[in-house]
Amino acid sequence: MEYISTRGGGTPLNFEQVTLAGLAPDGGLYVPRAWPCFSEAEIAAMRGLSYVELAVRVMTPFVEGSLTEDELRDLCMRAYGRFAHAAVTPLTQFDEQQWLLELFHGPTLAFKDVALQLLGRLFEHFLKKSHDHLTIVGATSGDTGSAAIDAVAGRERVDIFMLHPKGRVSDVQRRQMTTVLAPNVYNIAIDGSFDDAQAMVKRMFVDQDMTGRFRISAVNSINWARLMAQVVYYFAAALQLGGPERKVAFSVPTGNFGDVFAGYVAAQMGLPIEQLIVATNVNDILHRALSSGDYSTGTVTPTAAPSMDIQVSSNFERLLFDCGGRDGQALAEQMRGFEASKAMMLTNAQREGASALFTSARADANDMGRAMAWAADKCGEIIDPHTAIGLHAARHAEIDKSVPIVTLATAHPSKFPDAVERATGQRPALPGRVGDLFQREERMSELPGDYDAIAAFVAEHATPSA
Ligand SMILES: *Cc1c(COP(=O)(O)O)cnc(C)c1O
Repeated sequence: MEYISTRGGGTPLNFEQVTLAGLAPDGGLYVPRAWPCFSEAEIAAMRGLSYVELAVRVMTPFVEGSLTEDELRDLCMRAYGRFAHAAVTPLTQFDEQQWLLELFHGPTLAFKDVALQLLGRLFEHFLKKSHDHLTIVGATSGDTGSAAIDAVAGRERVDIFMLHPKGRVSDVQRRQMTTVLAPNVYNIAIDGSFDDAQAMVKRMFVDQDMTGRFRISAVNSINWARLMAQVVYYFAAALQLGGPERKVAFSVPTGNFGDVFAGYVAAQMGLPIEQLIVATNVNDILHRALSSGDYSTGTVTPTAAPSMDIQVSSNFERLLFDCGGRDGQALAEQMRGFEASKAMMLTNAQREGASALFTSARADANDMGRAMAWAADKCGEIIDPHTAIGLHAARHAEIDKSVPIVTLATAHPSKFPDAVERATGQRPALPGRVGDLFQREERMSELPGDYDAIAAFVAEHATPSA
């Protein structure tokens, strides 16, 4: 499989290269040159497979030329063996139409584990082959940091340096990062805000003194391999609900548009999907873009669903590329305009292409609380605030009663106990496997909010590139 940039530049890369590269050099995102497609009979034959075997079937076309089927299976077995549920992503039922796909059974209790546990092992596999070493540098306000740290902890040939703003992440979030004691994990609490931490990370990526010595990389959701891993659970859910003969709809709590774009990929691969509902909180740039074509940023409003508090959805570019006729030159120009003015209108082709599959909905704090209360009172299910936004959108969607709607449960409720307790009166406990989080030893370095201090720390501890 060959991968090209959404902005038309550079030469096509293979799967190994796009996994290690992340962003394309022209600022675009990598997408497969063409979508692999399964016939209805091939999809029907996937029914009843284990999660790992299904993952191998769905991902094989994307990794072709870079991994053998046995290598892919081995990586999947090790990645998904760390999940606390044998089904990996089990489906539960709310009522005759509403379903929940539980994506939070991984080590850090959020759906990001599904992709990152595999990505960490892909890094290790490819770096061993090339005898190289990777230095991952990131800033986190909470969830992504812990999932990324867990994914690479103890992996060979990878070090991770994760910056967080000192005193400004929750105790659970901090401990999920700082209690990972593997020697290749460096947690750094900086004096300053998340934006300060993020600015220092961005500076390191363009600091030639650092990039000349270290192979510096990121693990954010622009990495194609993350999206690829997420395609699998759309197949898993649809197959259980009668696919491919019966269409299924999905409602996806959305931030960076990575998770829901994976659903779009599943549809391009032949999975019959009725509709993809993009559920946002009050930070609703995607809802505005999909309902009126207006993609313009505002200021971020903090909510009880912090992983969706973003204004620019990096993966949206992939959809605009695919729906807009795959014209990299035109998209590069459109994105340059957006980067300059922080606003753009979608083209007619982009709007029409998107509307074939996507609808959108926005939930405010009341909608979110009511969805959590409904799930608790009517179905005995405690859900987290992000999932509640998806459930609100699913319950208000105009979709025929015969079509099941699957809400993606993106985080375990115990990650957000205060918001859940406010809405339901019940305080969710951490699951047993992480129940001792508050007894575990913590390790982190505290550094001033000063770029030179951070760069010196990374240079002292990282392994130079081959
Ligand atoms: C990251 C995250 C999201 C948003 O996912 P995207 O792929 O960025 O759209 C939603 N919910 C939770 C709990 C998350 O951690």
